[in-house]
Amino acid sequence: MSSHSIETQLAQAGSRWDQRTGAVTMPIHQTATFAHPELGQSTGFDYSRTSNPTRLALEETLARAEGGDRAFAFASGLAAVDAVVRLFRPGDQIVVTEDLYGGTYRLFDQVSRPFGIEPVFVDTSDTAAVERALSSDRVKGLFIETPTNPLLKIADIAALTQRARARDVVTIVDNTFLTAYWQRPLALGADLVLYSASKYLAGHNDVVAGAVVASTPEWSERVGFMQNAAGAILGPMDSWLTLRGIKTLPLRLQRQQENAGQLAAWLAEHPRVDRVYYPGLPTHPGHELQRQQAGGFGGMIAFAVKDPDRVPHILESVQVFLFAESLGGLESLITYPLIQTHADMDPALLERLQIDRTLLRLSIGVEDVDDLRTDLEAVL
Ligand SMILES: *Cc1c(COP(=O)(O)O)cnc(C)c1O
Repeated sequence: MSSHSIETQLAQAGSRWDQRTGAVTMPIHQTATFAHPELGQSTGFDYSRTSNPTRLALEETLARAEGGDRAFAFASGLAAVDAVVRLFRPGDQIVVTEDLYGGTYRLFDQVSRPFGIEPVFVDTSDTAAVERALSSDRVKGLFIETPTNPLLKIADIAALTQRARARDVVTIVDNTFLTAYWQRPLALGADLVLYSASKYLAGHNDVVAGAVVASTPEWSERVGFMQNAAGAILGPMDSWLTLRGIKTLPLRLQRQQENAGQLAAWLAEHPRVDRVYYPGLPTHPGHELQRQQAGGFGGMIAFAVKDPDRVPHILESVQVFLFAESLGGLESLITYPLIQTHADMDPALLERLQIDRTLLRLSIGVEDVDDLRTDLEAVL
């Protein structure tokens, strides 16, 4: 199937797995262990922490979509980040995007740092700043989120991976916001791609899951070892939900991007709105770069209102948008980054980035765009 387009691959993910029954959808192999045919033989499956058919079908789908060697599914996006951070050693530094997902920030700041793996937070949309940060011999990793969260800044993936490679620094890209459908970091030189599959990949706000896609057999070996040795695996049922969700990824992403483009342009003209952050707007500083390095702009928008005192009303009065954390699902969500997703970030950094009382984040779903616009108009 690998010669077929990504739409075809994803629509039929897991469909040809069960040769015995011909099941068109991947069965849920809800089993902990597998019987051996005879001494010294295995069906290929021994114990579900090590490998499980339902999880493997998902992992193979992700590896193929991303153009990677192998993929590994984890219990959450943060479990995937944690498994990757564990590949480093005490004393190592990792250069990390400064305005990244709040939970990833917390993991680097409060979990990795006490173990001696030190994050160096940098604006990765500034290639020169990253180059300066990479000049220390202690830096062993570069962790990029692009577009960033919540400000949707764009990093030049190819330029950054090239500079990292020249210094033997490993590049990891969190591709949660765009997915392999819009953006392929491995083709731009990254070593590992990482996901919160809870978002666009699964896409239905019904599962928490994560994944790592490895570029080479060497990286597969190391990540696969960590997945089995530390054990933060995705269970069969959640693997199945993610696999089921991923079949409609292209349809959902196209619709979400179409809706987001219209709403971002409308918000940019709105008298009660101060700033809009959406990479699809020609005024966005990363717009041209994003057009060159990716196939799309995604469905996430951030915007700042002029009057912060209006924010509680907005959050409490929306009728179509749901006031909730998370993103990437069918349902449109509105989030208040300052008190929700980014509450654990350094206050000085929040202030410098203007992640403040005025900033709201939208995850645009697949609803009718007129209903979404009318809902925002009524609360603004
Ligand atoms: C949600 C998210 C994570 C964390 O994933 P979980 O599945 O919630 O653990 C990591 N990175 C990004 C960009 C996210 O949006």
